[in-house]
Amino acid sequence: MSGGAGSARVKPRILQGMRDFLPGQMILRQRVMDTWRGVFERYGFAPIETPTIEYLEILTGKIGEDEKLIYHFEDHGGRPVGLRYDLTIPLARYIALHRRELNFPFKRYHIAPVFRADRPQRGRYRQFWQCDVDIVGSSSPVADAEAIMVWIAALESIHMPNFVVQINHRKLLQSLSTYAGAQPEQAQSIIRAIDKLAKIGAAGVEDEMLRHGVSDEAARRVLELVSLQGRPHDVLADLRERLAGLDEAQQGINDLEQIFSYLRDMGADPSHYTLDLALARGLDYYTGPVFEAVVEEPKIGSLGGGGRYDGLIGMFLGEEIPATGCSLGLERIVDVIEELGLLPQPEAVSKVLVTIFGDELIGASLALVEELRRGGVPAEIYLGESRQLRRQMEYANKRGIPVVAILGPDEVTNGTVMLRRMATSEQEAVPRGDAAAAVLRLAV
Ligand code: AMP
Repeated sequence: MSGGAGSARVKPRILQGMRDFLPGQMILRQRVMDTWRGVFERYGFAPIETPTIEYLEILTGKIGEDEKLIYHFEDHGGRPVGLRYDLTIPLARYIALHRRELNFPFKRYHIAPVFRADRPQRGRYRQFWQCDVDIVGSSSPVADAEAIMVWIAALESIHMPNFVVQINHRKLLQSLSTYAGAQPEQAQSIIRAIDKLAKIGAAGVEDEMLRHGVSDEAARRVLELVSLQGRPHDVLADLRERLAGLDEAQQGINDLEQIFSYLRDMGADPSHYTLDLALARGLDYYTGPVFEAVVEEPKIGSLGGGGRYDGLIGMFLGEEIPATGCSLGLERIVDVIEELGLLPQPEAVSKVLVTIFGDELIGASLALVEELRRGGVPAEIYLGESRQLRRQMEYANKRGIPVVAILGPDEVTNGTVMLRRMATSEQEAVPRGDAAAAVLRLAV
């Protein structure tokens, strides 16, 4: 830690929307990721990895108006490249490239950072982690239901209260504009307007549709339909009648009926999923069922988004491979966990600090800390200069290390170690051979 004499000091700073994490935050983040890895693997998803940087042409032309948020630049060889915007488009490219090495239906999960030049604000960063599960090579609603179910299981595994997975269908949305009597080329603008219903309200959505040239009458009919409320089964039956004769709509209704029935079969808690006819999801690549996970409190926006994207892989392959999946955003989830205190505050990684009585006993303490580590206990030795026990215990306290091991000349002679439980200041002398088990017992 020397001063770097003579060189100009560089002001330490980081880019807007990018974050550093302190160990306490990282322990919490990793805990969530580890829990989810376990959940994803319980549902049969295998991990994969793709690069952070892709050829720019891989990323463009697939997500719609938010494409402007893709970070791009020329690499050292003058090639146009971009930072991945999500994990779905790289997956589609990956499937097209490795099709012959994979067996379908193929289930993968991927937990990794993505980049968007978004306007930073609460819950909105420029680098953030997504946790994606996808099923490639199945067009069955069973796959959609399973993608939703793994989400519900993931959110339940971290004790997230009051979350709801909203479910809708792109084909239903697509046929809304036909039903309402709008022009076919207005369908996309209508879907984009409806997507903002929760944010800007019915009047705002109506204004936006009118601005895009949708007639008064068509806008009213669209709004009436997307505002239908009730049990999914009843609303779908109602829609089936209203949208009679529209093949696309009927297909969407069939898919949704099956998804809701499979979710019931899997025992999904009905308070955790619902039909939401206004859910559109901004991304252009969705073709079938679409999902979004939200919490009521705190107001943090969506926790995750997903859906079926049967055409995306075909953009790389020339031949369509159906796919469905969903993505949970780690940052907002961790924000909610912290805000609601859903998981115990992260503790230090080490369960025990081995102190140093004096320089002549450094070797004895090193031997002990290594014994504890071999016994499966995360353990560290005091690395500061002080040989005062009080100072060493203060350090353990500040770090949140629950147990301190004291090894003085008497303990060395007796073959024991003194363990102090910091929370209660209780001390107990235990035989060396029992130290690892005793630390684990005292550290809870
Ligand atoms: P999307 O890929 O846009 O469907 O987003 C999926 C999930 O990623 C969202 O539900 C959020 O949880 C998360 N997310 C999207 N954008 C951001 C952002 N700028 N910062 C943090 N999380 C985000």
